[in-house]
Amino acid sequence: VASAPVVTLTHRFLDELPELALTWQAAEVPDPRLLALNETLAAEIGLDAEWLRSPDGVRLLVGIRVPDGARPVAQAYAGHQFGGYSPRLGDGRALLLGELAGADGRLRDLHLKGSGRTPFARGGDGLAAVGPMLREYVVSEAMHALGIPTTRSLAVVATGRSVRRERLLPGAVLARVAAGHLRVGTVQYARATGDAGLLGRLVDVAVRRHHPQAADAAVPALALFDAVVAAQASLIAQWMLVGFVHGVMNTDNMTLSGETIDYGPCAFLDVYDPATVYSSIDETGRYAYGNQPVVAEWNLARLAEALLPLFDDDQDRAIELAVAALGRFRPQYGAAWAAGMRAKLGLPATVDDATVTSLGQELLELQRIHRVDLTSIFRALGTAARGDAEPARSLVLDLAAIDAWTARWRALQPDADTMDRANPVYIPRNHLVEEALDAATGGDLQPLGVLLDAVADPYRERPGLERYAAPAPATFGSYVTFC
Ligand code: AMP
Ligand code: MG
Ligand code: MG
Repeated sequence: VASAPVVTLTHRFLDELPELALTWQAAEVPDPRLLALNETLAAEIGLDAEWLRSPDGVRLLVGIRVPDGARPVAQAYAGHQFGGYSPRLGDGRALLLGELAGADGRLRDLHLKGSGRTPFARGGDGLAAVGPMLREYVVSEAMHALGIPTTRSLAVVATGRSVRRERLLPGAVLARVAAGHLRVGTVQYARATGDAGLLGRLVDVAVRRHHPQAADAAVPALALFDAVVAAQASLIAQWMLVGFVHGVMNTDNMTLSGETIDYGPCAFLDVYDPATVYSSIDETGRYAYGNQPVVAEWNLARLAEALLPLFDDDQDRAIELAVAALGRFRPQYGAAWAAGMRAKLGLPATVDDATVTSLGQELLELQRIHRVDLTSIFRALGTAARGDAEPARSLVLDLAAIDAWTARWRALQPDADTMDRANPVYIPRNHLVEEALDAATGGDLQPLGVLLDAVADPYRERPGLERYAAPAPATFGSYVTFC
């Protein structure tokens, strides 16, 4: 029998920001059973996948057997939820097990979700159900494969305990890996303590961990803010280009690292429509697909407010600096969106950004009017760039309109190979995700496995996966997500 590998978890967060950490331990798990393990990610972070499958490995993945020296913590944070401020949110059902030092010297958080109540749980039960944890696993891995910054999913373990939601559901713990779990809401919490030393230390930690170039700036807090604005502008542009709807963009669900975090009621567009809302709790459409850029900007304004004391001793001057920095969000977002749309349309660098943007927006408007599937038409346009316009034409009712658009676009000499690298064939379509989660909740993991295979390699069309490239059948109806 091989000896157990040594897993070393540091407790840097606890050491550096003790005011934001509560040492805590995971709840007992009656009957842990591994449902999904990300072997590629395990290898990347230096964990032995075979050992993770062993009883001791699975106990690590649910937090009930942590390595010697590890000190798991629940992290404190505040946040604006649907626009209203909550001074104390924090990890109510999550734990930071510790940090792993990669071979590249980079630290990564190993974090659990669904690991039991913590002092931040308020009315919550501290638990998570199999379906939503597998949803985070599938969608976060799809996002990663699409090249979009995100927390990663290492494993989902069924607990053998039931969780009371609308009905009783099987429980699970998700193990995830992230560059970090610092949120806009973490900074809001630190600011609200009134402890200037804590706020400054938090900035130092965030700079060192996520935006080291900001350390050399005259005002590191301002340079950090600039870097977060840039990272979020780029991130949200990528969400928009692929049709991702986060669903609950509260300030506690926005990272300083620029990684997508906290997959709850998220979903992907089929038909392109900016008004699309999936989440059952988003009654006003605050977090509709088309609102995501302005919501990100609003969240960044809350981050600037929290950091104001560090921007300048003169608070009028600090506000001027914040407004100027926040003003860079829109142009950066626009440039990131145009760069992504350029690739999706296969347009060469000789075509200017304004032309790319207007062509892209006109195409999207055609899609909105004619209820066209976003993913399908971009892929079909790759075929049009190779000379066969029929697949794209067949998706748009108004042939005169799509033909006129296509003629203008083709005159710019799009490159089909570029398009095929930018336009996914396979995204985690809502009906396929539901089908896989329902089956897995009932004990059949096969559909989940096929879906994961499809979305893990999204740009390469493969035989046998036709159903995974197609929009939902009409019988699927309109889609509502619950968190
Ligand atoms: P979310 O919007 O899902 O990211 O969560 C918002 C807040 O609610 C965070 O403080 C979570 O830790 C907390 N929370 C969500 N679900 C639960 C639960 N089942 N038990 C305890 N806390 C929860
Ligand atoms: Mg959250
Ligand atoms: Mg959460």
